[in-house]
Amino acid sequence: MIQDTIAAIATAVGEGGIAIIRISGPDAIATTARIFRSRDDLREVDSHTVQYGHIVDPATDEKVEEVLVTVMRGPRSFTAEDVVEINAHGGVVAVKKVLDLVLLQEGLRLAEPGEFTKRAFLNGRIDLMQAEAVIDLIRSKSDRAFQVARKQAEGTLSKRIKALRQTVIELLAHIEVNIDYPEHDVEDLTSAYIREQSGKALEDIGKLLKTANEGKILREGIMTAIVGRPNVGKSSLLNALVQENKAIVTDIPGTTRDVIEEFVTINNIPLRLLDTAGIRETSDVVERIGVERSHTALEEADLILFVLNNNEPLHADDRLLLERLEGRQVIVIVNKTDLEGRLDRQELEGLFPADSIVNMSVLEEEGLDGLEKAISRLFFEGQLDSGDLTYVSNVRHISLLKRAQQSLVDAIDASNAGIPIDLIQIDVRSAWESLGEIIGDEVGDSLIDQIFSQFCLGK
Ligand code: GDP
Repeated sequence: MIQDTIAAIATAVGEGGIAIIRISGPDAIATTARIFRSRDDLREVDSHTVQYGHIVDPATDEKVEEVLVTVMRGPRSFTAEDVVEINAHGGVVAVKKVLDLVLLQEGLRLAEPGEFTKRAFLNGRIDLMQAEAVIDLIRSKSDRAFQVARKQAEGTLSKRIKALRQTVIELLAHIEVNIDYPEHDVEDLTSAYIREQSGKALEDIGKLLKTANEGKILREGIMTAIVGRPNVGKSSLLNALVQENKAIVTDIPGTTRDVIEEFVTINNIPLRLLDTAGIRETSDVVERIGVERSHTALEEADLILFVLNNNEPLHADDRLLLERLEGRQVIVIVNKTDLEGRLDRQELEGLFPADSIVNMSVLEEEGLDGLEKAISRLFFEGQLDSGDLTYVSNVRHISLLKRAQQSLVDAIDASNAGIPIDLIQIDVRSAWESLGEIIGDEVGDSLIDQIFSQFCLGK
């Protein structure tokens, strides 16, 4: 059981209207009461109410900050423990002063990143899958990614996993009875039952895994590189995409120091544009071929936007680049359609399937729709708007589902081969454990620590 009480600043540190200090644990209310002066005694107030007052330094009784304090008694709180939130004025100094005073109180400790959410998990209020969705909620960069994460946080996906586990445990129970009471030997019935139950579970796992590709894309974005000769309009295209996304554009520091990414969405399709710094600095991609950096962007990309100029014939450098793109997911953007067409369309269509060629005039803001359609054809089989937002998007979940799938396939194979059921039981048990690991029923401390360490402070 958790004994200590933790505190942290829950809002982003910097200038802002308000900042919130969050405290959770058995001493949250009593501790705050020692440094808080208000009309009512904090220890007596109703749960889920807000009190106005002042934080004071108990040593000098000096007023430190004017605040609003919210009390939420467990288990009806985020962590399922007693939680206090102190709303202070925004800005680094005020909030730091309050936090210092809070931490000076006995038995209080600065929370580790993600520790509040970890407590919600350890106290059984949410499962691991829901806890992981909290990170996704914070990090989501498109409406749709946010909706997917919200569904997961609500437990929609957990319910599917639990139903799957139910199917598997019924099978496991059946096998174990058979092992424990061999005198009631019903060997045939059992192998039919193994096939039936495993088949049922496999069908559902298959359905979930089918969403994985889209889910992963929605969560992480399609890694996209824009390539083409100088002056074809790459940086104009980049600017147009970023402009459209002004409200939500963020810079994600890339994996290597030089590669800068920008996250944009075209309608609902999230793209992570790689090496945007490179595009802006020097437009000459061909010249840079061989340069480590553009190399990385090209290698990493799931999608390559190959930009051509409608006003020029295909160039030897274009063909060179083309060779490098063999076997990749490429969309050809024929830009500058507002100018006279000098590109040999027939040759182009000999090189690329017609539906991967998009006409565009960045200057006249035409063609983005076509680009969106081409991308959704490539990645979503044209069915992005299925309306069902239950996606498996987390790599950890995907690999565990695959492991469970393999175990069940092994169980069926073993049963078909007439292998004794005590060996089949091992496969079925392993499927049960893999599924349990997804929702956190069967995980070790180190994995839990690793998952929650990805969180920000105060969450
Ligand atoms: P980059 O070198 O590939 O990044 O190309 P830029 O984006 O710098 O564009 C080169 C030139 O083409 C600039 O003068 C742009 O204004 C112009 N340009 C870009 N897109 C279009 C377009 O759709 N039509 C026309 N007419 N000019 C364009």
